[in-house]
Amino acid sequence: MLPPRAINDSLREHRGVDVVIVGAGFTGLACAKRWAELVPDCRIALLDASEIGEGNPGRNSGFLLDVALAEDADPANTDRMAKCNELTRAAMQSIVEDVARSGLEVDLERTGTYRAAAGSAGMQALSNYQAFLKSAELPFRELDQAQLKRELGTDFYQAGLYSPDCYLAQPAAVIRALATTIPDTIDVYERTPVVRISPVSVGWQVLTSQGSLTCTDLVLANNSFIAGLGVATSNLASVYTYAALTEPLSASALGSLGSVRNWGVLPTHRLGSTLRLTVDGRLLIRSLHDLEKEQSEHRVREALSLRLRRRFPQLGDLRFESVWGGAVGFTYNGGLVWGDKQPGLWVSGGCNGGGTVKGTMLGRLLADKANGKAVPDLEALFGTASWMPPNPIKGLGFQLTSAWQSWQGRDEL
Ligand SMILES: Cc1cc2nc3c(=O)[nH]c(=O)nc-3n(C[C@H](O)[C@H](O)[C@H](O)COP(=O)(O)OP(=O)(O)OC[C@H]3O[C@@H](n4cnc5c(N)ncnc54)[C@H](O)[C@@H]3O)c2cc1C
Repeated sequence: MLPPRAINDSLREHRGVDVVIVGAGFTGLACAKRWAELVPDCRIALLDASEIGEGNPGRNSGFLLDVALAEDADPANTDRMAKCNELTRAAMQSIVEDVARSGLEVDLERTGTYRAAAGSAGMQALSNYQAFLKSAELPFRELDQAQLKRELGTDFYQAGLYSPDCYLAQPAAVIRALATTIPDTIDVYERTPVVRISPVSVGWQVLTSQGSLTCTDLVLANNSFIAGLGVATSNLASVYTYAALTEPLSASALGSLGSVRNWGVLPTHRLGSTLRLTVDGRLLIRSLHDLEKEQSEHRVREALSLRLRRRFPQLGDLRFESVWGGAVGFTYNGGLVWGDKQPGLWVSGGCNGGGTVKGTMLGRLLADKANGKAVPDLEALFGTASWMPPNPIKGLGFQLTSAWQSWQGRDEL
């Protein structure tokens, strides 16, 4: 949907640098930028398998939360959550500033977000989130079914909460803007998948599809694909989730929606669906989960279409202009895979579906830690990823848990 951009060359040589960062998403860009600030004469190479703005960093649902996600919120632990929120807010502020500095036109707006529930599991999760917002003294507004219908044009949800602590954006435009603000001294290589990493005498060797780099420090900021490089294999899994975007709605269809023109609804239940009306008048829906393998576009299209119809029966069958999927770095307990794994090997992954702002914060702090700066105790604040069994037990466990949770949260789908 964005105009074409000039793409950086792929790596097609063998050379040595000081630092290699794998993944030019929110985490990788923030890490590269901070590292260059701390050590301006450092030779840094930032590699991405795809193009900047493609892949997860650009193809998510565009919610940038400056407080905890509903499923991470813990009303019994207000002090810890307040510290987490403080870090997340600072990262969000840096995104806002960098986007402004880029001079690019980006529809990044502090619209706030709704959280809404359709059935009993959702209502229970909503009440937990409300308790968290209250205990954290964060502002919110309660909505009943009729008020949600007035604002959003759907009576699918029984109740909801509106919280101002969220930005909505076209995520690919955000990531493109952030990429323009990293210093020119960083060598960026696109369409450069890293296929293997190995320890060598100077530090690490990074083998890509057409070249290789040696470096003293290696940062893995490629989220769910970290495990594919042989690191954190028992802690991190790729979980695919999917989204679809309609064509711009007609004036009469838009007229049948509510009074708000740029909004987002996040599910309160872990397996629920995300919904947006974008500034250019399109509906977006995100839902479904699969472990380590994408399902067919045909099935995704049908399932997402059904979910949208349940929310907006008055709009009939809406045509999707785009349908896509992406891999989220999933950890069983929601904890982080973060820090040094071996000498000179730094890792940040496990976004669990909400890593645009969190990834920015974690990437920056990883550069701090690698360069000897004091960092907050992230393990105490955000937890550490727990152990996951290997396949086939992992696959079976995921299927059972997901079937159980989908049944419990069936009204939210
Ligand atoms: C459909 C969907 C909707 C989502 N909605 C939201 C949302 O609204 N808000 C939110 O906060 N999060 C959302 N997420 C999750 C969000 O996309 C991630 O949390 C976020 O992008 C994490 O940023 P990251 O930089 O850590 O990792 P990623 O965005 O996954 O970036 C990793 C980068 O590494 C690159 N890479 C991977 N493997 C290699 C390799 N071997 N060699 C070189 N490069 C490699 C990839 O190309 C990618 O650019 C959504 C995800 C999906 C799939």
